[in-house]
Amino acid sequence: MTFFEDQLKQGIFQISYCEKCNENIWPPKEICHICFNESKWKKSENIGKIIEFSKKDSDYFGLVEIDQGIRIMGDISSLSTPKTGQIVTMKVSFDSKPHYSFTVKNN
Ligand SMILES: [Zn+2]
Repeated sequence: MTFFEDQLKQGIFQISYCEKCNENIWPPKEICHICFNESKWKKSENIGKIIEFSKKDSDYFGLVEIDQGIRIMGDISSLSTPKTGQIVTMKVSFDSKPHYSFTVKNN
C-alpha cells in the first residue's frame, strides 16, 4: 500500500506537489513529471466544486475539482439537484481501491 492509499484509508487526502514548479501532481507521484524533483505532500482541505455530474437511478455522481486542478470522480449527495460550480466537501476512504464522496454544502 502506498503512502497515499494508507492516508486515504485514514480519511486523509494527501496531495503531492512540487516545490520547485509550484504545481500539484495528480495522480500523486514521488517524482515531479516536469523537473524530476522529489515531490512533497500536503493535506487537502477537502473542499471542491462540481465540474459536471450525472444521475444513475436515484444517485448523483460526477467530476469535482479540488485544490487547483485536481479532478476526481465520485458520488455526489445532495438533497436537491446539484448544480455545476456548487461547493462540496469531500470524504475519502480506501478498501482495495479509493472511494471519493462529495456532499453539497448548505442543503
Ligand atoms: Zn517540478
